[in-house]
Amino acid sequence: MKQPLTIALTKGRILKETLPLFAEAGIEPLDDIASSRKLLFETSVPDVRLVVLRGSDVPTYVRHGAADIGVVGKDILMEFGAEGLYEPLDLGIARCRLMTAGFPNANESRPRLRVASKFVNVARAHYAARGVQAEIIKLYGAMELAPLMNLADQIVDIVDTGNTLRANGMVPLEHIADISSRLVVNKAAMRTRHNVISGVIEAVSRAVAQREASAA
Ligand code: AMP
Repeated sequence: MKQPLTIALTKGRILKETLPLFAEAGIEPLDDIASSRKLLFETSVPDVRLVVLRGSDVPTYVRHGAADIGVVGKDILMEFGAEGLYEPLDLGIARCRLMTAGFPNANESRPRLRVASKFVNVARAHYAARGVQAEIIKLYGAMELAPLMNLADQIVDIVDTGNTLRANGMVPLEHIADISSRLVVNKAAMRTRHNVISGVIEAVSRAVAQREASAA
């Protein structure tokens, strides 16, 4: 049997937007991912399978070659690094912004700003580049709670509509980066399995281009 090509997808919001795009590229899971408890899925393309992971695990699987290709948010690549990966394609899906946020008109008297985030590396680099002394506090979820509970003065988080911030009395402050999901490829696999991988990249990039053309 041929060794299957494995594509690691990010579960959640990104998965919901990836599946229609992949279907337009002719790659469809044979089972309904949403209702299945399986994690590995055969697809309509022989020898191409999908694995569904949390976003922060996708670069790890692809970097180590356990998956050949991945779909992951740029926020994760910024935070955890893209070492060992090619990033050949912006999929233009799951668009959002990485921002700092806090209460409006907050008057910080502390010598060091307290910043809560799950993106600690991005946060550290952002405040350092602006010459702001910041203590970065790592959280794993519900970033908006940190200023409400006086754990932090600001947060660094993903903002889409801004509804989550507004609902908690906060406002977006500084724009750090525009985010969308990216296709990443294991560097070694790109050489050793070039034909099959470039076939997938081409099919998906045609689907992305078609979407852009019909949105224009
Ligand atoms: P919103 O209330 O629309 O600004 O959405 C904010 C929350 O939704 C954030 O705290 C994120 O956790 C999540 N979110 C929004 N967009 C994305 C995305 N493209 N990828 C991952 N998480 C997102």
